[in-house]
Amino acid sequence: MALTRRHVIAGAAAAGMTALVPSAAATTAQPKGKRVLRFAHLTDIHVQPEKRAEEGMVHTLEHVQNLSDKPDLIVTGGDLIMDAFRADRVRTKTQWDIFQRVIKNHVSLPVEHCIGNHDVWHWPGEGREPERGKKWACDALGLAKPYRAFDRAGWRFIVLDSTFPRGEDYVARLDDEQYEWLVAEIAEAKGKPVIVVSHIPILAACAYLDGDNEKDGDWKVPGAWMHIDARKIVKMFHKAGNVKLAISGHIHLVDRVDYLGTTYFCNGAVCGGWWNGNYQECEPGYALVNLYENGEYECEYVTTGWKSS
Ligand SMILES: [Zn+2]
Repeated sequence: MALTRRHVIAGAAAAGMTALVPSAAATTAQPKGKRVLRFAHLTDIHVQPEKRAEEGMVHTLEHVQNLSDKPDLIVTGGDLIMDAFRADRVRTKTQWDIFQRVIKNHVSLPVEHCIGNHDVWHWPGEGREPERGKKWACDALGLAKPYRAFDRAGWRFIVLDSTFPRGEDYVARLDDEQYEWLVAEIAEAKGKPVIVVSHIPILAACAYLDGDNEKDGDWKVPGAWMHIDARKIVKMFHKAGNVKLAISGHIHLVDRVDYLGTTYFCNGAVCGGWWNGNYQECEPGYALVNLYENGEYECEYVTTGWKSS
């Protein structure tokens, strides 16, 4: 998303917002199997030195870890720092230092990270090599690669890298190598249910209402807001049959889309409207996801009550 435009919208939204609580309800039917994993999905933290963002991040992590039904795991959803895409080396380092410090000092649970567009160092100026791109984010987060898969509690987690720089901007998609890898990981999971984590939504309804997308008389959703290769991915998930849910962030709004046997959850933002309050109706928060042994799941958005000022 264009940072400047969204800042303006976020400020306007925060000024006139009442305390609406969006909530993605659980699966339609009550799960009947045994719960095997509960995790908190914290997306779009956008930590920075300003706007009490560090305090807000700490508040959210404490909120998660003080729940009476405490999660087993934290999964981050990308855009962990405010912005490296257009930031110089010093500014990028400042933000990663804060992020790493907070995780080190305030998290007792295991954490699995996902990279977002704002985590990619795309600085066009001098002295950008060799970390330009995703290497810096990977190093800061202890990742060997920007995408990966792992098995946990009988589920296969697949964490995608949605961001592909295009000129001075980016588009949300998988390159051929990552797409082929994704197909193979899903096939190799065999009977296991699969959960896909991406920063940018593969499929979302809220992307239509994030901006003046219909102002020219037709709906237009930019390729930077939702995966431009969604058609291919959605059909592949359907054919595979074991991709139960796909969770994302990026839009700072909450929705749920059921399509061809997979449920797509867009899970709001820890920072709400970039630490300026709510974004549209969405309050700062995170999602709690329960996974069951028979492939059932629940996903619920929880607001943290964080007030930026
Ligand atoms: Zn994003």
